Amino acid sequence: MNTMSKNLIIEKADSSKIGEVDFNNLAFGSIFTDHMMVCDYKNGAWESPKIMPYQPLTLDPSAKVLHYGQAVFEGMKAYRDDNDEVWLFRPEENHQRINKSCVRLSMPEFPEDLFFSGLNALLQLDDEWIKPGYGNSLYIRPFVIASEAGVTASPAGEYKFIIICAPVQAYYGGEVRVKIAEKYSRAASGGFGFAKAAGNYAGQFYPTGLAQKEGFQQIVWTDSSTHEFIEEAGTMNIFIRIKDKLITGPTSDSILDGVTRKSVIAMAEDQGIEVEVRPIKVSELVEAAKNNTLTEMFGSGTAAVINPILGFGYKNERYELPTVENSYATRFKKQLMDIQYNKAEDKFGWRYKV
Ligand SMILES: *Cc1c(COP(=O)(O)O)cnc(C)c1O
Repeated sequence: MNTMSKNLIIEKADSSKIGEVDFNNLAFGSIFTDHMMVCDYKNGAWESPKIMPYQPLTLDPSAKVLHYGQAVFEGMKAYRDDNDEVWLFRPEENHQRINKSCVRLSMPEFPEDLFFSGLNALLQLDDEWIKPGYGNSLYIRPFVIASEAGVTASPAGEYKFIIICAPVQAYYGGEVRVKIAEKYSRAASGGFGFAKAAGNYAGQFYPTGLAQKEGFQQIVWTDSSTHEFIEEAGTMNIFIRIKDKLITGPTSDSILDGVTRKSVIAMAEDQGIEVEVRPIKVSELVEAAKNNTLTEMFGSGTAAVINPILGFGYKNERYELPTVENSYATRFKKQLMDIQYNKAEDKFGWRYKV
């Protein structure tokens, strides 16, 4: 892809909304910064990216994204350290993953140089929105939609790559108890569960709502053909700890390759913790809960970093996990955040300076 000639066009907002924002009471991802980045794909090429005031989009009502769900996204964060410097965490992983998602949904890949030049410029313009303080961050949402008009069921010829940003506070997921899926699935073998596709989320809402009526906060998704193996916890990757061993399922076409997940695995291995990446049977989980060797379960993802799971339900039985001292969930959350906020040595080279 030759993008050498592409210049970034910047149109600044006349005034900032920042004075109206209560940074101590932010509902996750509901307030957005002053600017956004937009890049159009037409006639087989990405045009010059633009940074413009945050504003509604104009789309033809027949735009393919609205009918066939050709839409993918990413989630990442910018962190401000105590020296006023701003960092991203492994952003090249997000760039590579959005392109994997694009390929699976028959959408054009987005060039790396435009991704980083646009993102850096956007973060510099909206710099004031990245608040200091451990736990505060700017949530970054890149996404791609099929904008071409026409309801023929085929891939669009026109797309929009957009980045919007929302200031967020430390995410507390609340007490989480999960229901293990016996009927519904998030993703099928051969499908696109590995992609961060909008449609994967739409399909999750209804079964999750049913589980919430039963008193659970999230669903642990199981494989779609047998429901015998656990795959993910809601929209997070899942880890279980049996005695002192950390176990997570292998990524596949139905398990998303989370950046937080692979970072936890690398840190755990580095610290000499025994890590097994292999399919986890529901029956193994139930057995371990019954004989008290299941010491922890937690989800991993950019928004919450690590979210402990306190118990689970399976086939009308409920299981509570013990409270452990020196929990892996607490340890990895702190270690990851210390790297993200430049409070710890970055031995893996994960930080990216904006
Ligand atoms: C985004 C996402 C994750 C977590 O990925 P991170 O890169 O760690 O944020 C896990 N599972 C699903 C289904 C996701 O969409």
